[in-house]
Amino acid sequence: MNATVDRKTCSGCGTCAKQCSDVFQIVGGKAAVGVVHIPWYLESASMHVSHECPEGAIHIGEAHGLMMAETGSDLRSWIAL
Ligand code: SF4
Repeated sequence: MNATVDRKTCSGCGTCAKQCSDVFQIVGGKAAVGVVHIPWYLESASMHVSHECPEGAIHIGEAHGLMMAETGSDLRSWIAL
């Protein structure tokens, strides 16, 4: 299981980072995912946070493959294929 954040939609409210800081952090005023794969013991909390996000910016899904992608001038992120 993996998480992605749509940083264009994210308002940077910080709810996800407060509720599940082992997976989500605020970087540059927006949420970012700090793990490639969500550990089993954080899956429930991550799912809960995705429903709590006021902007609907968090997607939780199954990763069949991952690639490193440029998401900004100085920020790289893992994305699911
Ligand atoms: S809860 Fe949603 S809007 Fe708020 S920081 Fe996290 S991803 Fe962004």
